[in-house]
Amino acid sequence: MTRVLPLILLLASSGAFAQLSEPHAVRDTVTGCVNVRDNPVSTAAVEACLGAGALVTVVDEVPFWREIRFDSNGRGWIAKKFIVPVPVPPISTSNTIPADAFLEVHFVDVGQGDAIWIQTHDDGVDGNGRFEGKSILIDGGPYSADDENPLREYVENIGHHGAVVEALIVTHPHTDHYRGAETISRHFDIEHYYDPGFPSTAVGYNAFLDAMRGTGGQTARANQTHIGEANFGVLDWGSELSAEFVYAWPGSNQGLGSGNTAVNNSSIVLRLEYGDHVFLFMGDAEGKDRHDPADPPQYVEQILITSHLSDIDATVLKIGHHGSETSSTTDFIAAVDPEILIVQSGRKPFSGTFIPDSTTLQRYCDHNSNIRIYRTDQGDAAAGLLHREAVDNDHVVIRTNGTGAVDVEALEGGNPIQVVSCNP
Ligand SMILES: [Zn+2]
Ligand SMILES: [Zn+2]
Repeated sequence: MTRVLPLILLLASSGAFAQLSEPHAVRDTVTGCVNVRDNPVSTAAVEACLGAGALVTVVDEVPFWREIRFDSNGRGWIAKKFIVPVPVPPISTSNTIPADAFLEVHFVDVGQGDAIWIQTHDDGVDGNGRFEGKSILIDGGPYSADDENPLREYVENIGHHGAVVEALIVTHPHTDHYRGAETISRHFDIEHYYDPGFPSTAVGYNAFLDAMRGTGGQTARANQTHIGEANFGVLDWGSELSAEFVYAWPGSNQGLGSGNTAVNNSSIVLRLEYGDHVFLFMGDAEGKDRHDPADPPQYVEQILITSHLSDIDATVLKIGHHGSETSSTTDFIAAVDPEILIVQSGRKPFSGTFIPDSTTLQRYCDHNSNIRIYRTDQGDAAAGLLHREAVDNDHVVIRTNGTGAVDVEALEGGNPIQVVSCNP
Protein backbone atom coordinates (compact mmCIF):
# COMPACT_ATOMS: atom_id res chain seq x y z
CA MET A 1 0.00 0.00 0.00
CA THR A 2 1.05 3.61 -0.40
CA ARG A 3 0.23 6.14 2.25
CA VAL A 4 1.78 9.57 2.41
CA LEU A 5 1.75 10.88 5.94
CA PRO A 6 4.67 13.25 6.17
CA LEU A 7 3.36 14.97 9.28
CA ILE A 8 3.13 11.76 11.25
CA LEU A 9 6.57 10.63 10.10
CA LEU A 10 8.03 13.94 11.13
CA LEU A 11 6.44 13.76 14.55
CA ALA A 12 7.41 10.14 14.98
CA SER A 13 11.01 10.94 14.28
CA SER A 14 10.91 13.64 16.91
CA GLY A 15 9.67 11.17 19.48
CA ALA A 16 6.12 12.55 19.85
CA PHE A 17 4.62 9.13 19.12
CA ALA A 18 6.30 7.40 21.95
CA GLN A 19 4.16 4.27 21.77
CA LEU A 20 5.73 3.21 18.46
CA SER A 21 7.89 0.12 18.83
CA GLU A 22 6.65 -0.38 22.33
CA PRO A 23 5.19 -3.75 23.23
CA HIS A 24 1.43 -4.12 23.32
CA ALA A 25 -0.90 -7.01 23.98
CA VAL A 26 -4.36 -7.96 22.74
CA ARG A 27 -6.82 -7.01 25.50
CA ASP A 28 -7.75 -9.65 28.03
CA THR A 29 -11.42 -8.89 27.45
CA VAL A 30 -11.30 -10.11 23.85
CA THR A 31 -13.25 -13.30 23.26
CA GLY A 32 -12.24 -15.52 20.39
CA CYS A 33 -9.70 -13.59 18.37
CA VAL A 34 -9.16 -10.24 16.70
CA ASN A 35 -8.46 -9.91 12.98
CA VAL A 36 -5.19 -8.53 11.71
CA ARG A 37 -5.73 -7.01 8.27
CA ASP A 38 -3.46 -5.98 5.42
CA ASN A 39 -4.82 -2.39 5.43
CA PRO A 40 -6.28 -0.14 8.14
CA VAL A 41 -9.89 -0.60 7.07
CA SER A 42 -12.39 -3.14 8.32
CA THR A 43 -13.02 -4.57 4.88
CA ALA A 44 -9.36 -5.36 4.15
CA ALA A 45 -8.13 -8.91 3.80
CA VAL A 46 -7.54 -10.82 7.04
CA GLU A 47 -3.95 -11.96 7.57
CA ALA A 48 -4.23 -13.48 11.00
CA CYS A 49 -6.42 -13.63 14.08
CA LEU A 50 -4.88 -12.99 17.50
CA GLY A 51 -6.29 -14.16 20.82
CA ALA A 52 -6.38 -12.34 24.16
CA GLY A 53 -2.95 -11.65 25.57
CA ALA A 54 -1.07 -12.04 22.27
CA LEU A 55 2.03 -9.85 22.29
CA VAL A 56 2.52 -7.42 19.42
CA THR A 57 4.74 -4.47 18.61
CA VAL A 58 3.22 -1.28 17.25
CA VAL A 59 5.28 0.05 14.34
CA ASP A 60 2.97 2.62 12.72
CA GLU A 61 -0.38 4.22 13.24
CA VAL A 62 -3.31 5.97 11.62
CA PRO A 63 -6.43 7.07 13.46
CA PHE A 64 -8.16 4.08 15.08
CA TRP A 65 -5.70 1.57 13.63
CA ARG A 66 -2.22 0.39 14.52
CA GLU A 67 0.22 -1.42 12.30
CA ILE A 68 1.80 -4.22 14.29
CA ARG A 69 4.44 -6.90 14.13
CA PHE A 70 3.42 -10.20 15.66
CA ASP A 71 4.83 -13.72 15.96
CA SER A 72 8.29 -13.85 14.42
CA ASN A 73 7.64 -12.05 11.14
CA GLY A 74 3.90 -11.30 10.88
CA ARG A 75 2.90 -7.73 10.08
CA GLY A 76 -0.52 -6.11 9.58
CA TRP A 77 -3.15 -3.71 10.95
CA ILE A 78 -5.28 -4.18 14.03
CA ALA A 79 -8.02 -1.93 15.44
CA LYS A 80 -6.51 0.23 18.16
CA LYS A 81 -9.32 -0.51 20.61
CA PHE A 82 -8.28 -4.17 20.92
CA ILE A 83 -4.70 -3.59 22.13
CA VAL A 84 -3.13 -2.04 25.22
CA PRO A 85 0.47 -1.14 26.01
CA VAL A 86 2.35 -3.69 28.06
CA PRO A 87 4.15 -2.11 30.96
CA VAL A 88 7.83 -2.84 30.58
CA PRO A 89 9.46 -3.69 33.87
CA PRO A 90 11.75 -0.79 34.62
CA ILE A 91 15.43 -1.61 34.47
CA SER A 92 16.42 -1.84 38.07
CA THR A 93 18.67 0.92 39.23
CA SER A 94 19.33 -0.93 42.42
CA ASN A 95 22.86 -2.15 42.92
CA THR A 96 21.62 -5.24 44.66
CA ILE A 97 23.04 -8.40 43.15
CA PRO A 98 21.13 -11.62 43.88
CA ALA A 99 23.06 -14.19 45.92
CA ASP A 100 23.10 -16.63 43.00
CA ALA A 101 24.31 -14.10 40.43
CA PHE A 102 27.96 -15.01 40.05
CA LEU A 103 30.52 -13.25 37.94
CA GLU A 104 33.15 -15.76 36.84
CA VAL A 105 36.66 -14.96 35.73
CA HIS A 106 38.74 -17.81 34.32
CA PHE A 107 42.50 -17.42 34.00
CA VAL A 108 43.34 -20.20 31.56
CA ASP A 109 46.75 -21.88 31.53
CA VAL A 110 48.17 -21.11 28.10
CA GLY A 111 51.80 -21.27 29.21
CA GLN A 112 53.70 -18.05 28.67
CA GLY A 113 50.88 -15.63 27.87
CA ASP A 114 47.56 -14.22 28.99
CA ALA A 115 44.14 -15.76 28.34
CA ILE A 116 41.21 -14.62 30.42
CA TRP A 117 37.53 -15.50 30.04
CA ILE A 118 34.98 -13.39 31.89
CA GLN A 119 31.41 -14.68 32.09
CA THR A 120 28.59 -12.53 33.44
CA HIS A 121 25.52 -14.03 35.11
CA ASP A 122 22.49 -14.93 33.02
CA ASP A 123 19.22 -14.41 34.88
CA GLY A 124 17.11 -15.78 32.03
CA VAL A 125 15.52 -12.39 31.31
CA ASP A 126 16.80 -11.25 27.94
CA GLY A 127 17.05 -7.73 26.70
CA ASN A 128 16.70 -5.67 29.87
CA GLY A 129 20.41 -4.87 29.90
CA ARG A 130 21.12 -6.68 33.15
CA PHE A 131 22.57 -10.14 33.84
CA GLU A 132 22.65 -10.96 30.14
CA GLY A 133 25.19 -13.79 30.39
CA LYS A 134 27.89 -12.14 28.31
CA SER A 135 31.28 -13.63 27.49
CA ILE A 136 34.31 -11.38 27.38
CA LEU A 137 37.79 -12.59 26.41
CA ILE A 138 41.07 -10.84 27.13
CA ASP A 139 43.97 -12.10 24.98
CA GLY A 140 44.37 -15.69 23.86
CA GLY A 141 47.86 -16.90 24.72
CA PRO A 142 50.65 -17.71 22.23
CA TYR A 143 49.21 -20.62 20.24
CA SER A 144 47.16 -20.02 17.11
CA ALA A 145 46.85 -23.58 15.79
CA ASP A 146 43.41 -24.94 16.65
CA ASP A 147 44.59 -28.10 18.37
CA GLU A 148 47.29 -26.30 20.36
CA ASN A 149 45.21 -23.44 21.75
CA PRO A 150 44.20 -24.21 25.35
CA LEU A 151 41.79 -21.26 25.54
CA ARG A 152 39.77 -22.44 22.56
CA GLU A 153 39.54 -25.93 24.05
CA TYR A 154 38.71 -24.57 27.51
CA VAL A 155 35.90 -22.30 26.38
CA GLU A 156 34.43 -24.89 24.02
CA ASN A 157 34.56 -27.64 26.66
CA ILE A 158 32.36 -25.57 28.90
CA GLY A 159 29.84 -25.60 26.11
CA HIS A 160 30.26 -22.41 24.22
CA HIS A 161 31.30 -23.56 20.75
CA GLY A 162 30.27 -20.92 18.25
CA ALA A 163 28.97 -18.73 21.04
CA VAL A 164 28.73 -14.99 20.81
CA VAL A 165 31.70 -13.30 22.42
CA GLU A 166 30.54 -9.84 23.41
CA ALA A 167 34.07 -8.47 23.51
CA LEU A 168 37.44 -9.79 22.41
CA ILE A 169 40.22 -7.61 23.78
CA VAL A 170 43.80 -7.88 22.60
CA THR A 171 45.75 -5.90 25.16
CA HIS A 172 48.75 -5.27 22.92
CA PRO A 173 50.46 -6.65 19.82
CA HIS A 174 52.76 -9.30 21.31
CA THR A 175 52.51 -12.91 20.18
CA ASP A 176 51.76 -14.30 23.66
CA HIS A 177 48.55 -12.22 23.64
CA TYR A 178 47.20 -11.99 20.08
CA ARG A 179 48.07 -15.32 18.46
CA GLY A 180 45.59 -17.27 20.54
CA ALA A 181 43.00 -14.54 20.04
CA GLU A 182 43.29 -15.24 16.33
CA THR A 183 42.05 -18.80 16.91
CA ILE A 184 39.20 -17.48 19.01
CA SER A 185 38.18 -15.15 16.20
CA ARG A 186 37.78 -18.15 13.87
CA HIS A 187 35.66 -20.19 16.27
CA PHE A 188 33.38 -17.71 17.94
CA ASP A 189 31.07 -14.95 16.84
CA ILE A 190 32.86 -11.75 17.89
CA GLU A 191 30.58 -8.80 18.55
CA HIS A 192 33.19 -6.18 19.53
CA TYR A 193 36.95 -6.28 19.03
CA TYR A 194 39.14 -3.91 21.08
CA ASP A 195 42.78 -3.12 20.35
CA PRO A 196 45.05 -0.34 21.63
CA GLY A 197 45.98 0.68 18.09
CA PHE A 198 49.72 0.52 18.67
CA PRO A 199 51.42 0.69 15.24
CA SER A 200 53.09 -2.71 15.10
CA THR A 201 55.05 -3.92 12.09
CA ALA A 202 54.59 -7.60 13.01
CA VAL A 203 53.28 -9.33 9.87
CA GLY A 204 51.16 -11.88 11.73
CA TYR A 205 49.59 -9.22 13.86
CA ASN A 206 48.68 -7.05 10.89
CA ALA A 207 47.15 -10.05 9.11
CA PHE A 208 45.10 -10.69 12.25
CA LEU A 209 43.95 -7.05 12.33
CA ASP A 210 42.93 -7.30 8.67
CA ALA A 211 40.85 -10.35 9.50
CA MET A 212 39.15 -8.63 12.43
CA ARG A 213 38.38 -5.48 10.44
CA GLY A 214 37.62 -7.09 7.10
CA THR A 215 40.43 -5.19 5.37
CA GLY A 216 43.15 -6.54 3.07
CA GLY A 217 40.61 -8.64 1.16
CA GLN A 218 39.48 -10.59 4.23
CA THR A 219 35.99 -11.14 5.58
CA ALA A 220 35.50 -9.28 8.86
CA ARG A 221 35.49 -11.58 11.89
CA ALA A 222 34.18 -8.92 14.28
CA ASN A 223 30.90 -7.12 13.91
CA GLN A 224 32.49 -3.95 15.27
CA THR A 225 36.17 -3.11 15.69
CA HIS A 226 37.46 -0.50 18.10
CA ILE A 227 41.08 0.23 17.22
CA GLY A 228 42.62 2.88 19.44
CA GLU A 229 41.20 4.37 22.62
CA ALA A 230 39.40 7.16 20.75
CA ASN A 231 37.19 4.45 19.24
CA PHE A 232 36.46 2.41 22.38
CA GLY A 233 33.14 4.04 23.22
CA VAL A 234 31.35 3.14 26.45
CA LEU A 235 31.44 -0.47 27.57
CA ASP A 236 28.09 -2.03 28.42
CA TRP A 237 28.32 -5.63 29.52
CA GLY A 238 25.24 -5.35 31.74
CA SER A 239 24.11 -2.65 34.16
CA GLU A 240 25.13 -4.86 37.11
CA LEU A 241 28.76 -4.51 36.08
CA SER A 242 30.89 -1.40 35.77
CA ALA A 243 33.50 -1.91 33.04
CA GLU A 244 36.05 0.69 32.02
CA PHE A 245 39.27 0.75 30.06
CA VAL A 246 41.32 2.90 32.43
CA TYR A 247 44.35 2.98 30.16
CA ALA A 248 45.42 2.20 26.60
CA TRP A 249 48.12 3.47 24.29
CA PRO A 250 47.68 7.25 24.17
CA GLY A 251 48.80 7.62 20.56
CA SER A 252 52.43 8.41 21.28
CA ASN A 253 55.30 6.55 22.91
CA GLN A 254 56.39 9.55 24.92
CA GLY A 255 57.09 8.44 28.48
CA LEU A 256 56.47 4.79 27.59
CA GLY A 257 60.02 3.63 26.82
CA SER A 258 61.10 2.13 23.52
CA GLY A 259 61.10 -1.24 21.77
CA ASN A 260 59.24 -3.98 23.64
CA THR A 261 58.83 -1.70 26.64
CA ALA A 262 56.71 0.69 24.60
CA VAL A 263 54.68 -2.18 23.15
CA ASN A 264 53.97 -3.52 26.65
CA ASN A 265 53.08 -0.02 27.80
CA SER A 266 50.49 0.24 25.05
CA SER A 267 48.44 -2.43 26.91
CA ILE A 268 44.74 -1.93 27.44
CA VAL A 269 44.08 -1.93 31.20
CA LEU A 270 40.58 -3.02 32.19
CA ARG A 271 38.81 -2.21 35.43
CA LEU A 272 35.69 -4.18 36.39
CA GLU A 273 33.52 -3.45 39.40
CA TYR A 274 30.93 -5.98 40.54
CA GLY A 275 29.22 -5.30 43.84
CA ASP A 276 31.89 -4.73 46.46
CA HIS A 277 34.72 -6.08 44.33
CA VAL A 278 37.04 -4.52 41.78
CA PHE A 279 39.16 -6.43 39.27
CA LEU A 280 42.12 -4.81 37.54
CA PHE A 281 43.57 -6.49 34.43
CA MET A 282 46.96 -5.01 33.55
CA GLY A 283 47.95 -6.74 30.32
CA ASP A 284 51.73 -6.33 30.07
CA ALA A 285 51.73 -2.77 31.40
CA GLU A 286 54.92 -1.93 33.25
CA GLY A 287 56.11 0.33 36.04
CA LYS A 288 59.86 0.45 35.64
CA ASP A 289 62.89 -0.97 33.85
CA ARG A 290 64.27 -4.33 34.97
CA HIS A 291 67.29 -3.00 36.86
CA ASP A 292 65.61 0.05 38.35
CA PRO A 293 64.73 0.16 42.05
CA ALA A 294 61.15 -0.68 43.06
CA ASP A 295 60.20 2.96 43.28
CA PRO A 296 59.34 5.51 42.05
CA PRO A 297 56.80 4.24 39.51
CA GLN A 298 57.18 5.05 35.84
CA TYR A 299 55.26 4.21 32.67
CA VAL A 300 51.69 2.94 32.99
CA GLU A 301 51.84 2.40 36.74
CA GLN A 302 52.78 6.03 37.21
CA ILE A 303 50.02 7.14 34.82
CA LEU A 304 47.40 5.09 36.67
CA ILE A 305 48.49 6.44 40.04
CA THR A 306 48.23 9.95 38.65
CA SER A 307 44.97 9.57 36.75
CA HIS A 308 43.05 6.84 38.59
CA LEU A 309 44.36 6.73 42.13
CA SER A 310 40.87 6.75 43.61
CA ASP A 311 39.61 3.73 41.68
CA ILE A 312 42.50 1.31 41.18
CA ASP A 313 42.12 -0.11 44.68
CA ALA A 314 41.17 -3.68 43.72
CA THR A 315 40.24 -7.01 45.27
CA VAL A 316 41.80 -8.91 42.38
CA LEU A 317 44.84 -7.80 40.38
CA LYS A 318 45.97 -9.59 37.22
CA ILE A 319 49.63 -8.71 37.57
CA GLY A 320 51.30 -6.68 34.81
CA HIS A 321 53.73 -8.31 32.37
CA HIS A 322 53.53 -11.83 33.83
CA GLY A 323 55.12 -10.68 37.09
CA SER A 324 58.31 -9.42 35.50
CA GLU A 325 60.64 -7.13 37.49
CA THR A 326 59.44 -4.45 35.07
CA SER A 327 56.09 -4.36 36.88
CA SER A 328 54.72 -3.84 40.37
CA THR A 329 56.48 -0.86 41.88
CA THR A 330 55.91 -0.41 45.59
CA ASP A 331 53.70 2.68 45.23
CA PHE A 332 51.57 0.88 42.67
CA ILE A 333 51.17 -2.17 44.93
CA ALA A 334 50.12 0.14 47.76
CA ALA A 335 47.60 1.93 45.52
CA VAL A 336 45.98 -1.28 44.27
CA ASP A 337 46.33 -3.11 47.60
CA PRO A 338 45.06 -6.40 46.15
CA GLU A 339 43.75 -9.29 48.25
CA ILE A 340 44.20 -11.71 45.37
CA LEU A 341 47.01 -11.62 42.83
CA ILE A 342 46.84 -13.58 39.58
CA VAL A 343 50.00 -14.37 37.65
CA GLN A 344 49.70 -15.69 34.10
CA SER A 345 53.02 -17.05 32.92
CA GLY A 346 54.85 -20.12 31.66
CA ARG A 347 58.29 -21.60 31.40
CA LYS A 348 59.63 -19.67 28.47
CA PRO A 349 63.04 -18.12 29.13
CA PHE A 350 63.74 -14.52 28.13
CA SER A 351 67.52 -14.16 27.81
CA GLY A 352 67.73 -16.87 30.48
CA THR A 353 65.16 -15.26 32.78
CA PHE A 354 61.85 -16.88 33.63
CA ILE A 355 58.99 -14.75 34.80
CA PRO A 356 57.45 -14.05 37.23
CA ASP A 357 60.49 -12.80 39.10
CA SER A 358 60.45 -13.95 42.71
CA THR A 359 61.55 -10.45 43.73
CA THR A 360 58.35 -9.04 42.21
CA LEU A 361 56.09 -11.45 44.10
CA GLN A 362 58.02 -10.75 47.30
CA ARG A 363 57.05 -7.07 47.04
CA TYR A 364 53.39 -8.08 47.27
CA CYS A 365 54.10 -10.28 50.29
CA ASP A 366 56.05 -7.46 51.91
CA HIS A 367 53.02 -5.21 51.41
CA ASN A 368 50.50 -7.76 52.70
CA SER A 369 51.62 -11.14 54.03
CA ASN A 370 48.03 -12.42 53.76
CA ILE A 371 47.79 -11.82 50.03
CA ARG A 372 46.71 -14.86 48.03
CA ILE A 373 48.83 -15.40 44.91
CA TYR A 374 47.58 -17.76 42.19
CA ARG A 375 49.61 -18.74 39.15
CA THR A 376 48.96 -20.45 35.85
CA ASP A 377 52.54 -21.80 36.03
CA GLN A 378 51.71 -23.49 39.34
CA GLY A 379 54.33 -26.14 40.10
CA ASP A 380 55.82 -25.97 36.62
CA ALA A 381 59.31 -24.93 37.71
CA ALA A 382 59.47 -27.57 40.44
CA ALA A 383 58.35 -30.21 37.94
CA GLY A 384 61.10 -29.14 35.54
CA LEU A 385 58.60 -28.35 32.80
CA LEU A 386 59.80 -26.33 29.89
CA HIS A 387 57.79 -24.03 27.67
CA ARG A 388 55.15 -26.03 25.75
CA GLU A 389 55.00 -28.72 28.45
CA ALA A 390 54.11 -26.04 30.97
CA VAL A 391 50.66 -25.83 29.39
CA ASP A 392 49.18 -28.32 31.83
CA ASN A 393 45.81 -27.14 33.12
CA ASP A 394 46.96 -24.85 35.94
CA HIS A 395 43.80 -22.80 35.65
CA VAL A 396 42.54 -20.27 38.19
CA VAL A 397 38.81 -19.60 38.42
CA ILE A 398 37.27 -16.80 40.43
CA ARG A 399 33.60 -16.60 41.34
CA THR A 400 31.89 -13.82 43.21
CA ASN A 401 28.34 -12.61 43.74
CA GLY A 402 29.74 -9.21 44.59
CA THR A 403 29.76 -9.52 48.38
CA GLY A 404 31.81 -11.33 50.98
CA ALA A 405 34.92 -13.34 50.24
CA VAL A 406 35.83 -14.00 46.62
CA ASP A 407 35.87 -17.72 45.84
CA VAL A 408 39.02 -18.90 44.06
CA GLU A 409 39.55 -22.36 42.63
CA ALA A 410 43.15 -23.03 41.73
CA LEU A 411 44.14 -26.10 39.73
CA GLU A 412 47.52 -27.76 39.26
CA GLY A 413 47.54 -30.20 36.39
CA GLY A 414 43.74 -29.97 36.45
CA ASN A 415 43.45 -30.92 40.15
CA PRO A 416 42.31 -28.52 42.88
CA ILE A 417 45.09 -27.35 45.18
CA GLN A 418 45.52 -25.15 48.21
CA VAL A 419 48.06 -22.40 47.76
CA VAL A 420 50.35 -20.93 50.42
CA SER A 421 51.35 -17.58 48.99
CA CYS A 422 53.80 -15.86 51.36
CA ASN A 423 56.31 -17.60 53.55
CA PRO A 424 56.08 -16.45 57.16
ZN1 LIG B 1 53.02 -10.95 27.51
ZN1 LIG C 1 53.99 -7.97 25.91
